[in-house]
Amino acid sequence: MPTTTTIGPTQLLIDGQWVDSLEGETFATFNPATEEKITDVACGGKADIDRAVQAARKAFETGAWPEMDARDRGHLLYKLADLIEENADELAALETLDNGKPLSMAKAADLPLVIDCFRYYAGWADKIEGKTIPIRGNYHCYTRHEPVGVCGQIIPWNFPLLMAAWKLGPALATGCTVVLKPAEQTPLTALRLGEMIVEAGFPAGVVNIVNGFGEVTGAALVDHPQVDKIAFTGHYETAQIIMRNAAQTLKRLTFELGGKSPNIVFADADIDAAIEGAHFGLFFNQGQCCCAGSRLFVEESIHDEFVARLVEKTNAQILGDPFEAATQQGPQVDQDQYDKILSYTASS
Ligand code: NAD
Repeated sequence: MPTTTTIGPTQLLIDGQWVDSLEGETFATFNPATEEKITDVACGGKADIDRAVQAARKAFETGAWPEMDARDRGHLLYKLADLIEENADELAALETLDNGKPLSMAKAADLPLVIDCFRYYAGWADKIEGKTIPIRGNYHCYTRHEPVGVCGQIIPWNFPLLMAAWKLGPALATGCTVVLKPAEQTPLTALRLGEMIVEAGFPAGVVNIVNGFGEVTGAALVDHPQVDKIAFTGHYETAQIIMRNAAQTLKRLTFELGGKSPNIVFADADIDAAIEGAHFGLFFNQGQCCCAGSRLFVEESIHDEFVARLVEKTNAQILGDPFEAATQQGPQVDQDQYDKILSYTASS
């Protein structure tokens, strides 16, 4: 592991405090490039989810957060974005260490998108308006948008920090409080982000971060009666489980799931650009994208030449240590994903 990479916190962030899990449980997170253990991380159980939800509930109902002007919520999000920007190189290195994506990509794509996401939602905080509705009679009829409440947010490992930003940005801008459950493959950058959330000055309990495994930690969040909403990104089969379980407490749900995103190339296309696009569509982020171009339809008359050129480009791709500047493709995030991809290629 590069000696310069800062690991950051490894505990749970609950009610503004860094704490161990009540059961004292931990799990190891690995560097996918070397398969070496990076560190042990606190593993939240059902009781930890309960105390995180209680903290989020309290922060939603009482104290500084519900009292805060929307504009001040926006300022906190701007401040968080500034802190991320100041520490972007460190966060990019931590993302590369835990996820395996090339450092050049983490710097050029993940971090700028994270910063931009928080700034985008910071700007929304004081611009969420209702309507006035002209109805018959001497009445004043209007709508208001109010925060949903406590949001349980469950995210995957392919863009760990960006997935956290996409979930946290809108929830915080609108005045919700959050219990975030990062993916077990990539727990580290969300924790470092938690440190910056505390430093930015978000009130205690507004953002709680509980790492752990889906079937225990994620499921406890889905089952908890005081969570108003689950926002989930991941596999569609997990979403089916979540939808079934959330029915018990009639939670609101939003899902971002996987897809098979075809590229279609006709003979009159700009072939050089189409090859670049098809290659990028499939191999960006080691192919670990919900919208990866994993199917390609090519018009018959150019099929053979197009595929030959695409294969040539792919063979020239530089695989290797994600911290090396020349590396274009790093390792898959773990052995499971590696095996899954090989099973797809074997079955085609
Ligand atoms: P996954 O569904 O196994 O895991 C995602 C998250 O869900 C993890 O945090 C995991 O711990 C948690 N989880 C697992 N089981 C759970 C349960 N029973 N209850 C509650 N939480 C549970 O997904 P994965 O295969 O690890 O992640 C990759 C998937 O995410 C791919 O299908 C990819 O296409 C999709 N994805 C979609 C988008 C998008 O924006 N649509 C973005 C990124 C990834």
